[in-house]
Amino acid sequence: MEDCLFCKIIAGEIPSTKVYEDDTVYVFKDINPITPIHYLLIPKQHICCAAKITPENSAVVGHIYEVAAKIAEKEGITDGYRIVTNCGENAGQTVFHLHFHMLAGVKMGWGAD
Ligand code: C5P
Repeated sequence: MEDCLFCKIIAGEIPSTKVYEDDTVYVFKDINPITPIHYLLIPKQHICCAAKITPENSAVVGHIYEVAAKIAEKEGITDGYRIVTNCGENAGQTVFHLHFHMLAGVKMGWGAD
């Protein structure tokens, strides 16, 4: 899709540090990591956000979770990881191409502090 930052990253028009790639999924290091390991897992197909997942395009979501498990095993992430997607502005979504943050390398809290 034109003017989509992550579509341009997938196309190689904007540089990224690639972690994994296959026919339907691209994974790269977040440029502004919030945990020691912070990857973004994105479908190559442009889907703007989780609210636009449909029966026609949802297979890639399960595949993304499989890819995350494969990456964790390969990189020896044995203490756990978190996968989160922000959907919409109130949730903090800033790039409107579906992406899953994979966070690891530190013990994380949960809920309100
Ligand atoms: O969930 P949200 O939309 O806020 O996440 C977008 C993420 O994309 C941010 O964590 C940001 O650091 C990352 N990003 C990136 N490379 C870019 C632009 C944004 O890794 N060129």
